[in-house]
Amino acid sequence: MRHTLVTSRDQARRHILQAHHASKSVGVVMTMGALHAGHLQLVHASTDECDFTAVTIFVNPTQFAAGEDFEQYPRNLASDLEALRDYPVDLIFAPDVAEMYRSQASTSVEPPQVALLWEGQCRPGHFRGVCTIVLKLLQAVPADVAYFGQKDYQQYLVLRDMCADLTLPVRLQLVPTVRDADGLALSSRNQYLNSEERQRAVAISQSLQLAQQLLQNGTVHTGQITSRMRDVLYSAGIEHIDYIAIADPETLTELRSIERRAVAMVAARVGRTRLIDNQLLTMK
Ligand code: AMP
Repeated sequence: MRHTLVTSRDQARRHILQAHHASKSVGVVMTMGALHAGHLQLVHASTDECDFTAVTIFVNPTQFAAGEDFEQYPRNLASDLEALRDYPVDLIFAPDVAEMYRSQASTSVEPPQVALLWEGQCRPGHFRGVCTIVLKLLQAVPADVAYFGQKDYQQYLVLRDMCADLTLPVRLQLVPTVRDADGLALSSRNQYLNSEERQRAVAISQSLQLAQQLLQNGTVHTGQITSRMRDVLYSAGIEHIDYIAIADPETLTELRSIERRAVAMVAARVGRTRLIDNQLLTMK
């Protein structure tokens, strides 16, 4: 299937307004490209549920902290278009940086409270950049529903609160994490791993599975769970851990013991590659 590819905000907006005019429901999937089956799961959810689907592809400079991998981040529009070929996507919006940010830009979105924790602590300015670009992309692509992956659970909560606080007329939909057969969450950054690191990286999802097992077997004290999770990572030679936490799934404040629902989250470096993953924990 040949898609409509646009690079200007005005063109993108015109297409979306036309779809609205034709009473179509519009879904958007926002990505930084380097598309994999995780992204495609979001595309599938949107094409399944909405009459019109837009995919945005933009490596957003403002969400990378100083010294992070902005320069190195994989960019290949041709292979992204190829990955989308078999999906009934109506519009692909792939702007360049100048299209999204004027050079003198000095305004940004102050992220909500939930952005202060975890990723917000490790990556200063990250969620400010994410909130700002998502608001700007929603101006160009004013969708009814925006699809986000469970893989970046905190990002979803941050954006959900931003949309509610700024009364944006969009619904956010969370889509489950897509994993490789051994459990590793798909991520564009997995491309950075060499084969030995790729094998060790599976310990991250194993530690999350262990958390769920321990809870099911009656361990509710989070300190006991996180220390066992840490052992799993250490055994795989993953020693640079930014955080292992078990938190309230709505506020992300750390829990001392689990009463009902919780989310277990891990951020760690495998070699030089920083990976994150999480899992919602349930009592049964
Ligand atoms: P990114 O291109 O990494 O900014 O991701 C774009 C969207 O795809 C975000 O909503 C991510 O949460 C989502 N995503 C990334 N990896 C996965 C995955 N393995 N499973 C489900 N969604 C994902």
